[in-house]
Amino acid sequence: MRGLETVIGLEIHVQLATATKLFCGCRADYFAAPPNTLTCPVCLGMPGALPVLNRKAVEYALRVALALGAQVKRRSHFDRKNYFYPDLPKGYQITQRQVPLAVGGELRFWVEGEERRVRIRELHLEEDAGKLVHTPAGALVDMNRCGVPLVEIVTEPDLRTPGEAKEFLRALRTLLRHLGVSGADMEKGELRCDANLSLARDGEWGVKSEIKNLNSFRGVERALAAAAAWQRERLERGEEIRLATFGWDEGRERLLLQRAKEEAHDYRYFPEPDLVPLEVSEELLEKVRAGLPELPWARRERFVREYRLSSREVEVLLGEPELADYFERVAAAVGEGREAANWILTEVLRFWQGSPPLPAEELALLIQKVRKKEISRTTAKELLEEAIGGKESLERLLAGRAVRQLTDEAELEKLAREAMSQHPQAVADFQAGKTQALGFLVGQVMRKTKGRADASKLAQIFQRLLAS
Ligand SMILES: [Zn+2]
Repeated sequence: MRGLETVIGLEIHVQLATATKLFCGCRADYFAAPPNTLTCPVCLGMPGALPVLNRKAVEYALRVALALGAQVKRRSHFDRKNYFYPDLPKGYQITQRQVPLAVGGELRFWVEGEERRVRIRELHLEEDAGKLVHTPAGALVDMNRCGVPLVEIVTEPDLRTPGEAKEFLRALRTLLRHLGVSGADMEKGELRCDANLSLARDGEWGVKSEIKNLNSFRGVERALAAAAAWQRERLERGEEIRLATFGWDEGRERLLLQRAKEEAHDYRYFPEPDLVPLEVSEELLEKVRAGLPELPWARRERFVREYRLSSREVEVLLGEPELADYFERVAAAVGEGREAANWILTEVLRFWQGSPPLPAEELALLIQKVRKKEISRTTAKELLEEAIGGKESLERLLAGRAVRQLTDEAELEKLAREAMSQHPQAVADFQAGKTQALGFLVGQVMRKTKGRADASKLAQIFQRLLAS
């Protein structure tokens, strides 16, 4: 057992967010569509129907390839992978096996603040199959997903722990969303993962355990941990490890042995005769390269440098590009990023549902008012919730309340003295060493002034008065 390490590689299927399918004009956003409504003779594999390659899907795949720094093959082609399954009406899947679209490259990501790089072996285009829907009455088949474009990304065995594999996938999701090529939502099946694991020496593959169709980040981590334990137990008993393929029971968190590799399929691959080879021109490559956005790792470094954000904060902001964009707009309007990040992460994020719950300018205005001490933080939070929940704009709410923070020393002191005479027990408690009584007194004044009092100034005044 000594000297053995966990070696993990992933095969990831990414559903591309093109309007139409890979080889026909059917709509590709099948997720909420009624079964079998997005089909045509091409994606149903009718005799004589001919596929035509979707240019947008190629551009999206190239975007991913270039962002990963992969080397794009100027000439690749499609192959038929033949197998029989009820959700595959053609009897074969069109994929790229012999010559993939791109090879090499790497994904940069961070695990607990430390940078990792995982090499990419290859990236290719292929079509999805349909779906079996299991009902009490039996299995039904829905062909809407047939022909939906996928990019398959295969990594080198560079991952060393299940947790790292999960972070890699998160980082890949962030990249795909920044590139605008996929929703990359694992729950919707837009990002699916097969994982290979072995216990081995020197980062080389040992005997692999493969886990198919993982569709949650937690599932990836838990299933890999279970596969590592499965191999370790066998090695400890002195047993030989055989190649095996597992499924993952998400609910019970258990591996399900599907097959030993000895019965592996022979897919009888051969070049797809109905499609010409895929030629990628210099012009197209340049166009795609020029259209790449700032990549997440560059953006991440800039956020840490420019705004002094922590690793964790940046991760949350970059997880959704719209959130990161929103943050940058607020930071620009406030003229500072640190406060903007605090407000977004602690107050706005819980109302976030894919889009800003409040315009960036309004949030910036609120932050500025707090910084200028025109309103207290407490009032600002109340107004923020009101503005998000209601129909009135923040500006109107501010005007309506005509709020101005109470910072006047004399006035605050008067209020403090009042609170002390009304709550002698709290004063006695504080003087007996119960420091939490101070918070109680401050709270009384805040309540009386409806949050307008400057809480930190008030606390200082109380401390002075209570000490004398
Ligand atoms: Zn179709």
